[in-house]
Amino acid sequence: MSDCIFCKIAAGEVASSKVYEDDTKFAFMDIAPVRPGHVLLIPKKHYERLTDLQDEAAADLARVLPRLARATVAAARADGFNIFQTNGRCSGQSVAHVHFHIIPRHNDDGYSFHWRPGQYAADEMEAWRKKITGALHDKSTADGRR
Ligand code: AMP
Ligand code: ZN
Repeated sequence: MSDCIFCKIAAGEVASSKVYEDDTKFAFMDIAPVRPGHVLLIPKKHYERLTDLQDEAAADLARVLPRLARATVAAARADGFNIFQTNGRCSGQSVAHVHFHIIPRHNDDGYSFHWRPGQYAADEMEAWRKKITGALHDKSTADGRR
């Protein structure tokens, strides 16, 4: 994608603070870190959402996540970490090129999640389970974009 900033970073056309690179993926420092040491992992190929990746491309990308997280945690002497991933504007995605955030976390670093836990009415969870398992077996969701 010619106007995608992450494509340009992966191609070396826009400067970044590189952390890791191989034939298919690239990791670099997030320019506006949620916490110091915040790293982004991207595939070199342009995909907008995680759901656009076929299984092999997704597995290839994920293969390096634990290693990058270990390095980030070691460098930050972190107590833990978040792997965060956004898909679509509604989810907070601001760059339309799939990316994983790797964010080192410390006890009492002042961040907490404010998800509001919900509740299902009777049988509602089972209805959702059926909808999702049905979709799982639908050909259109079986694999990502080619
Ligand atoms: P998201 O909001 O999940 O799409 O995350 C996009 C992330 O990309 C944000 O955390 C930004 O700070 C980061 N970002 C945007 N442009 C750059 C850039 N040129 N170099 C490094 N990080 C960037
Ligand atoms: Zn891109």
